[in-house]
Amino acid sequence: MQDVIAQTAGKGPLIDPFGRAVTYLRVSVTDRCDFRCTYCMAETMQFLPKSEVLSLEEIDRVASAFIRRGVRKVRLTGGEPLVRRGIVSLVDSLARHLGRGLDELTLTTNGNQLAKHAEALAAAGVRRVNVSLDTLDPDRFRRITRWGELPRVLDGIAAAKAAGLAIKINTVALRGINEDELGDMAAWCGREGHDLTFIETMPMGEVDEDRTDHYLPLSIVRAELAKRFTFRPTDYVTGGPARYVEVAETGRRIGFITPLTHNFCESCNRVRLTATGRLYMCLGQEDSADLRAAVRRSPSDADLDAAITEAITRKPKGHDFVIGRGGPRAAVPRHMSVTGG
Ligand code: SAM
Repeated sequence: MQDVIAQTAGKGPLIDPFGRAVTYLRVSVTDRCDFRCTYCMAETMQFLPKSEVLSLEEIDRVASAFIRRGVRKVRLTGGEPLVRRGIVSLVDSLARHLGRGLDELTLTTNGNQLAKHAEALAAAGVRRVNVSLDTLDPDRFRRITRWGELPRVLDGIAAAKAAGLAIKINTVALRGINEDELGDMAAWCGREGHDLTFIETMPMGEVDEDRTDHYLPLSIVRAELAKRFTFRPTDYVTGGPARYVEVAETGRRIGFITPLTHNFCESCNRVRLTATGRLYMCLGQEDSADLRAAVRRSPSDADLDAAITEAITRKPKGHDFVIGRGGPRAAVPRHMSVTGG
């Protein structure tokens, strides 16, 4: 009862209508990216004008409001977070909450700018980063990312490791594109000491291809990997949607994020802030709340707190991604780069 009263007043923990506590905020700090991964973006993307994007100070204000309300984990993403000018100063600033409500401040990156920023991120208090990497073949890498150079990303990963950051590799499983090297990716991660998470391609945003062609259920990937590796059950959780196994041969973990074959909504603890300050309460639903208006309306946080409280009352039970439903069209029109992957 105390919680309900506090929440109504814009102060208490964030509990959604299904009793789930919101403890994880993902923040897209920019919609821009220095790659154009074929399943993620169209080659020519229209990016947002600067005036629509939250300033670093505004992002800090919103994230801090969430942390005051019980968010314990913040992940900066994009777009590509490391192309946002001043990103390290934002990390530095948010790091003041570590140990004072915030347990973890982390990033998801394509690794392209990681060599430049790894040490500063580690010095600020970042302990882990997720690096998206779908292939270890340079030609394939260029084809998938359209613009990327694999050696540069591998250098970034090496720099992050040297700076003491734990690295988790995120790999989207793509039929006909990287399905033949997923075992090799697992072996490489094992050798390098990285955990690995496989992700199913999600029908988000129009791209130049039909995603149905490349959709690869992770049940198949897992069965193939199990022929090469011995999986041990583990109850390891990161607060994210992945379900993990431990690989006996490498001692590392492999996670599976299966939004299409296994709905991960029942334990959802997160919300997503876009670069323009829209709060999406579900990755796969259209409803959102405009926190930028609340932030810009008043220098006091009362409006912001009230807008957050109201938004959480609208967090839906889950999404209903179905690959191929309606053909090649996206289930939600937003690209992952808008909502923040
Ligand atoms: N630029 C950063 C990166 O590359 O990690 C952060 C943003 S990116 C949108 C985050 C993650 O979303 C990446 O791992 C990317 O592969 C994944 N992603 C993008 N579009 C996706 C889709 N339609 N289905 C599944 N994963 C997707």
